[in-house]
Amino acid sequence: MDFTLTPEQQMFRDMFRDFAAKEVAKVADQADKQEALPPKLLKRAAAQGFLGAVAPEEPYGGAGLDTISYTLLLQALAGECASTALTIHVHNSLALRTILRQGSPALKEALVPEMVTGERLGAFALTEAGAGSDPTRLRTVAAQVDGGWTISGAKTWVSNGGLAGVYIVFALTDPPAGARGMTAFAVPAETPGLTVGGRQKTLGLRGANITRLYLEDCRVPAENLLGAPGQGYRIALETLDFGRIGVSAIAVGGAEHALEVAARYASERVQFGAPIAQKQAIQAYLADAATQLAAAECLMRRAAWLVDQGKPVTREAAMAKLFCSRMAADVTDQAVQIHGGIGFMQDYPVERYYRDARALELVEGTTQIQQVIIAEDMLAGYGIKVKP
Ligand SMILES: Cc1cc2nc3c(=O)[nH]c(=O)nc-3n(C[C@H](O)[C@H](O)[C@H](O)COP(=O)(O)OP(=O)(O)OC[C@H]3O[C@@H](n4cnc5c(N)ncnc54)[C@H](O)[C@@H]3O)c2cc1C
Repeated sequence: MDFTLTPEQQMFRDMFRDFAAKEVAKVADQADKQEALPPKLLKRAAAQGFLGAVAPEEPYGGAGLDTISYTLLLQALAGECASTALTIHVHNSLALRTILRQGSPALKEALVPEMVTGERLGAFALTEAGAGSDPTRLRTVAAQVDGGWTISGAKTWVSNGGLAGVYIVFALTDPPAGARGMTAFAVPAETPGLTVGGRQKTLGLRGANITRLYLEDCRVPAENLLGAPGQGYRIALETLDFGRIGVSAIAVGGAEHALEVAARYASERVQFGAPIAQKQAIQAYLADAATQLAAAECLMRRAAWLVDQGKPVTREAAMAKLFCSRMAADVTDQAVQIHGGIGFMQDYPVERYYRDARALELVEGTTQIQQVIIAEDMLAGYGIKVKP
């Protein structure tokens, strides 16, 4: 594994950082306080091709980024605003990529061009009130009708809810079969019977639109089926493998920024007649944070590299997500500590980074679920079948 970026990847990274500095930084605080991203921001991101990041150039006009470049995009966006990064990540990693991989030709033709230009944002609706870590407990059901399916149920924690023009919805088509009876559908937002709840109030990621979603006899044509009936659980797991690499990149981007701000503050803030950066306790904080960050970035990059090599990534993506999200929670916590009292004030952005990072240990499988995935893979070699 060679983590040196190619000249093209370096060019992309510079372009992503430039966009983040010029367009994202100025709206990040406002997005957090107003609990919404300015619509212009997504339009500008779309104009740069970021909403088609994972779609191939031909035939869809996407950016066709490799996975390493894609992580550079999310890392750069999260360096200024994790809510912006999450919105673009959910659209690309969880919705657009799933339609590209699992959609029928007719579905792709209908939806992908509009998703690539950002006219139709994507969302992913798996979680329900009674089905979080254990998605096999879904209560949303879908029944086959003439020429299509009707879907009924209620989803929660839908990132991009209300903004999205299409929802990837998981439902049981054969309830007694449990996970093997789960099926995935692309449900356009304009489908009669689909309604979106209000924004769920959250500790962090306040600029991201996270809502409930209700489906009442929502009828979709047969071509909106993703994969085949009964493949929904496998599709969800496969999608989340990739998604976790995106979450890892968001964690690394946010922590990187928080650490930079903390190091600058420590160099400027004078107490006891010298910058606090002269104190060994502060140096130890900074050194530990920099080391955790470097290790996290390696795990994240390794998982992205494996995807680009076409190799299995379940265990490595879970490791990256486990380590990167914990690292981000720790490093942003240390950044608050280095700032002393002002680290706790809303006038300074460091508290936003801390609140945003906390969500990353929950989203797309909690820390404990990543541990289950890793242990399951490890212990299979010893004849142990791990049950979550
Ligand atoms: C900011 C944010 C955005 C989200 N966006 C989306 C989205 O776009 N789409 C979507 O479908 N979902 C989304 N989610 C939902 C997320 O995937 C779930 O919150 C997560 O899977 C956990 O489910 P839960 O909240 O029901 O917790 P629970 O499953 O009830 O877990 C509660 C606690 O029990 C622990 N636990 C559960 N099972 C085990 C076990 N076997 N072993 C050890 N510990 C266990 C968990 O780790 C956790 O600590 C989002 C969540 C957040 C916070």
